[in-house]
Amino acid sequence: MKIATIKTPDQVIIPLQQHAGAACNPLVRVGDTVSIGQLIGDGEFRIHSSVSGEVTALSEMPHPSGKDVLSVVIETRNGEKKGIKPEELHAGTIKSIIREFGIVEPNGLSTISKKVDIDTIIINGTNTGDLSSNAALMLDYPSEIVYGLKALMESVGAKKAIIVIELNSEALHVMRTETIPDSNIKIVATPTYYPAGTENTLVKKFTRKKVPRGSTPEDRGVLVSSIAAIKALHDAVHDSIPMIAKTVTVAGAVRSPGNVLVEIGTSVKHVIDECGGCSGTPVKIVINGAVSGAAQYSDEVPIIKTTSGILVQTESDINREPPAPCINCAWCVDECPIGLMPHLLYGYADSAQFDKCAELYISDCVECGMCAYVCPSKLPLVQIIRYGKHGVAEMGLETVEVEV
Ligand code: SF4
Ligand code: SF4
Repeated sequence: MKIATIKTPDQVIIPLQQHAGAACNPLVRVGDTVSIGQLIGDGEFRIHSSVSGEVTALSEMPHPSGKDVLSVVIETRNGEKKGIKPEELHAGTIKSIIREFGIVEPNGLSTISKKVDIDTIIINGTNTGDLSSNAALMLDYPSEIVYGLKALMESVGAKKAIIVIELNSEALHVMRTETIPDSNIKIVATPTYYPAGTENTLVKKFTRKKVPRGSTPEDRGVLVSSIAAIKALHDAVHDSIPMIAKTVTVAGAVRSPGNVLVEIGTSVKHVIDECGGCSGTPVKIVINGAVSGAAQYSDEVPIIKTTSGILVQTESDINREPPAPCINCAWCVDECPIGLMPHLLYGYADSAQFDKCAELYISDCVECGMCAYVCPSKLPLVQIIRYGKHGVAEMGLETVEVEV
């Protein structure tokens, strides 16, 4: 099924934090007129306006993370779209293009974070649970994805690239056909299991390199990126379009589920309404997947660069059992794909012992949700571990770097 487009909303709320690290500084004031693609926030990352219109507020607004975040509110001018006015494309490296055009990976990080020699690029084309935006992008934009990947390979000097796709995905054949002329790009099929796409697992499985604790795939000469970021890279390099829209899977209790292209800052409510509205009575909206996603307090939260999916649940989808104390069964330890000790992280994070969380490598958690899924006590492990990760980051508690 094709990625659908939806009506531009009358208003967008663009948070100045759509990535890891500190929020951007606003570059606009209330009353300013902005054009689509105009730079409105700058910092470690950059944020551009997804619509043309007038800035009506600059204030703390609800964010999918659950916090209130300084956001630029823009009233769209009659849904009108003017020409894109991106920054001048600097004659620099892909790293500067990624920054200039505000490209962010689904985990909120930059595609390239270190200056190291890269031998291999792995693109995670797997889907997780109810999210199917990766497959949708590959089906609709195979040549654009290969273009973005080749640009990245050339820039970092990578000799080969691997796109990992699930065995049962329709995108497998499409991408194989698209990449046949290029022997440096390999399409590999992986069985459908969850979580298929954790970075270190992909690196170990497809390059046989182990990524030790406290280091990243880049330290081993491997760059792991995503289909969404590679498509965004194509849009930046080929069409000078910054990251101002996201393909989002809308699933669950909605009348017309599917993948839709959404302008950054559009409210979840508008997206659901444009997908025919809810079917049944919604009791929970989860952003980014049933297992690892975060339930939302409001359907007014905006779509941001790290949003991949919206799941609408009704009463029959919800488990209302209250959590019980940890019984030290270690099921969470057995299931953690990273080899962490989720029950200990939960305890330390819950009691704000962030130094202990850092010692146990809490920052390596990929928030896959497997620990919470198997926990017989139904403990909210992911939410508390996420809180612990924020605590570690805010206190600047670094995990020990390991020489590789
Ligand atoms: S969410 Fe749980 S299972 Fe997944 S990586 Fe983090 S601690 Fe491990
Ligand atoms: S699975 Fe749940 S009950 Fe078992 S050790 Fe982990 S946190 Fe405790």
